[in-house]
Amino acid sequence: MTPDEFRRAGHELIDLIADYLDHGVEAHSVLDRVAPGDVRAMLPEHPPAEPEPWEAVRSDIDRVVLPTITHWQHPNWFAYFPANVTYSSVLGELLSAGLGVQGMSWVTSPACTEIETLMLDWMHELLGLPARYRSTSERGGGVIQGSASEAVLVAILAARWKATAGAVNEIGDTTRLVAYTTSQAHSSIEKGLRIAGIGSDRMRIIDHDEQFAMRPDALAAAIEADTQGGLIPFFVCSTHGSTSSLAFDPTPEIAAVCAGSGVWLHVDGAMAGIAALEPELRWVNQGLERADSYCTNAHKWMGVNFDCSLFWTADRTALLGALSILPEYLRSAAAETGAAIDYRDWQIPLGRRFRALKLWFNLRLDGVGTAQGRIRRDVELAQEFAAWVAADDRFELVAPHPLNLVCLRIVGDDDAPTDELIGRINTAGEFHVTRTVLDGRSALRVSIGAVNTDRSAVQALWQALTT
Ligand SMILES: *Cc1c(COP(=O)(O)O)cnc(C)c1O
Repeated sequence: MTPDEFRRAGHELIDLIADYLDHGVEAHSVLDRVAPGDVRAMLPEHPPAEPEPWEAVRSDIDRVVLPTITHWQHPNWFAYFPANVTYSSVLGELLSAGLGVQGMSWVTSPACTEIETLMLDWMHELLGLPARYRSTSERGGGVIQGSASEAVLVAILAARWKATAGAVNEIGDTTRLVAYTTSQAHSSIEKGLRIAGIGSDRMRIIDHDEQFAMRPDALAAAIEADTQGGLIPFFVCSTHGSTSSLAFDPTPEIAAVCAGSGVWLHVDGAMAGIAALEPELRWVNQGLERADSYCTNAHKWMGVNFDCSLFWTADRTALLGALSILPEYLRSAAAETGAAIDYRDWQIPLGRRFRALKLWFNLRLDGVGTAQGRIRRDVELAQEFAAWVAADDRFELVAPHPLNLVCLRIVGDDDAPTDELIGRINTAGEFHVTRTVLDGRSALRVSIGAVNTDRSAVQALWQALTT
């Protein structure tokens, strides 16, 4: 591809993206009906022997890609969680791809590191986070991880290092370490514990209350029992907005249980934590001033395209202790004097993209007011939707709904009517919702928050659910 061909194709592609996000997506069903293998069957079995023209690739976007993707940017997207994209963030992503820098250390691309550190401090300010996480604080700081799953793994590794008092290059004895969370926590906690060599059998599932929030008394009892048994409690994950029902664990009380024990307290606010951009919703930050690490995703509700997971720790010493590696070829004067951050020591991979650009572009070109407005809109729509559910005696609300997720079911002990309703909605393909199980009973989740979702889309969903 020549520079001129790139210019022409690039302009066309930008037009395509602009049209798609500007309601063009509505030409498609949110869920296209595709069976496994269908997509591959549309494509040649072998790679092309000669370069093809852009037009051939371009036409396959319409022929192959758009009809077979699930349209997360559709206004009728009510499944999983919002995975929003904005024009501003797409431009940042494009620039990152075009510049092609690797930001593993400060010296490999100073702007990549310094803009990222500043963006984490900007977000720290916009979310109203406690001072201990700011990069200018004594031991805190933030970094962009690829996902909340990587963030929790990094937190587990820091906690493990701290618990085993490991020196660099030394793991120490991990055989007695125990971690705690609830059945509502994200699957990445268990996966992280397995990767870190702790294993699923030393992950304790602490009881939750009827609101799906961790019971601090049960946590205290479990920690006490394990300590008595000669084990070492080392990690607690408190969830702010669980995946199933957006339940909030009581972090202030959990922190009080952990206080003085040396246990690392991580708070997973991947989806819901970003709500703190809206000052009236700052309650989602409850207890963070006593946690050791925190994660919320800019790549869900906020509108910075995947991947952009914001991770802060109040103890970067433990993080660096766990993850820093210094081969000869990565040494630099800047890092050795401590004047610069080398983000490779804050994450799993060595290589890293210039992800801060998309956050920077979004905050400057759209402004935080845009995300705040959307968050307010979605919370209002969810409250209105929940009121319709509450007023209809065929349905019941099955979890608290303080933000943008409403969980409901058809009244009665039988799960079948709720499961059938979910199946009917998703098979029709006009709307997409997801199913969960809360305390053994099926529930239909309605997650509100795609960029183009408006009141009429929510009304139309309610119509579809009730007719
Ligand atoms: C979405 C989510 C995750 C996983 O996020 P990724 O960035 O996709 O890894 C973890 N925890 C919670 C509470 C989530 O909502």
